[in-house]
Amino acid sequence: MIGEDISPTTRISREELRELQWRRLQPQIAYNYAKSPFYRERFDAIGLQPADIRAWDDFQRVPTMDKHDHRQAQEESIRRFGHPFGMLCCVPTESFTMLSATSGTSGTPTFYTLTEPDLKVYSELMARKLRLIGLRPGDRVLHGFALSMMVGGQAVLQLLKNYGACIVPVGAEVGSRRLLEFARLVRPRMLICTPSYAEYVAEKCQETLGIPATDLGLELIVCGGEPGASLPDVRHVIESAYGAKLHDYTGAVHTFHGITCGVPGGMMHYVSEDHCVLELQDPETKAPIELRDGAVGEMVYTELGIEATPLMRYSLGDIIQISAQPCSCGWRGLSFAILGRSDDMLIVKGVNVYPAAIRNVVASFAPRTTGQIRVVLDKPGHKVTPPLHLVVEHGADLQGSALATLDAELQTVLHDQLKIRPAIALVPPGTLQRSSHKTKLVEVRAPSEAGGP
Ligand SMILES: [Zn+2]
Repeated sequence: MIGEDISPTTRISREELRELQWRRLQPQIAYNYAKSPFYRERFDAIGLQPADIRAWDDFQRVPTMDKHDHRQAQEESIRRFGHPFGMLCCVPTESFTMLSATSGTSGTPTFYTLTEPDLKVYSELMARKLRLIGLRPGDRVLHGFALSMMVGGQAVLQLLKNYGACIVPVGAEVGSRRLLEFARLVRPRMLICTPSYAEYVAEKCQETLGIPATDLGLELIVCGGEPGASLPDVRHVIESAYGAKLHDYTGAVHTFHGITCGVPGGMMHYVSEDHCVLELQDPETKAPIELRDGAVGEMVYTELGIEATPLMRYSLGDIIQISAQPCSCGWRGLSFAILGRSDDMLIVKGVNVYPAAIRNVVASFAPRTTGQIRVVLDKPGHKVTPPLHLVVEHGADLQGSALATLDAELQTVLHDQLKIRPAIALVPPGTLQRSSHKTKLVEVRAPSEAGGP
């Protein structure tokens, strides 16, 4: 059974898994409190002691944190200690063996600091994902992320190296020509990069090398760093351009790790539950949402067994959907899809709606739809006065009563799954503008224009 070979978490029941998490969580809380001024001050401010946390319900009293808090802690650390690591970090800075960073939209980096034992944990979690997609130690892997200290760069290189992959570290900085030349010369089995770069490189292959990308012999395209690789149309474009399987993944130097197995429409398999407590909360009210099949909410995670900067009840602002359904690949653990950012949420008559969730429903009607949608708002903001205006591209060769049937079926499924009754304008395929990076699902314009592109 595939799951048992991939992650120890799928060998045990959910109850046993919760027990295992709890056994690791209690010492982690005590450790974070004892070693990190950030956690200690946050606990003390509300009169909470690690010993007060005796059950899962008590754990929800620990304040959540996000990237904004993370950056503020770094600034505070610079004031107190002269470097950005002192507030969150639980070990002497001499114990770090790697620094990684995300640039974020504000441009201020948030740092991830790692010790050697931390690197071992992250390497094991990465290895589970690579085993799940069938990469073998010794396989050549063409690395096409920027080779900087950003998490797709040095961190991913290190994790791949620890797996035993033979890395071809070309990176993104030298341009697509170099990457393509190396692909032709060294015949890697796997390419890892962002989905937009995978698409761009495939487009350039014919003019650069005079051959289609299918002739490069790549078998696995593994994409992360930005959304896209789980979308049916992006997946179709990349898989047919290379004649290879596309996998969407998340997780490098934190413990929330998942990857798609390649089953069409499948979500990312959550391979790291023994090192990561996952919680869901309502992005508006912050009320907890039960982690059950189909649940949607803002992802909050807590790292277990981490030494340098163990994050606790940390939110990246991602909205995810949970699936507890077994996958036809043999996976029996939880799976998830990242639907978007909490900033993307709309509220229609008190119902939380995520444009990416609408897109996933519409895409499930392929080939009767192309999967392309736009939510059209008449003014900016989260609150929408019903009906929600939705533009949907129908599939090729669809007309007359077939369009009316599609409209009715979309209405039914959108209401059943997302509790909305939108006004749908069906438009021909190719009407909505595509973007090689991240297509915006929401546009603000006057509703009278909603039927157009
Ligand atoms: Zn699967």
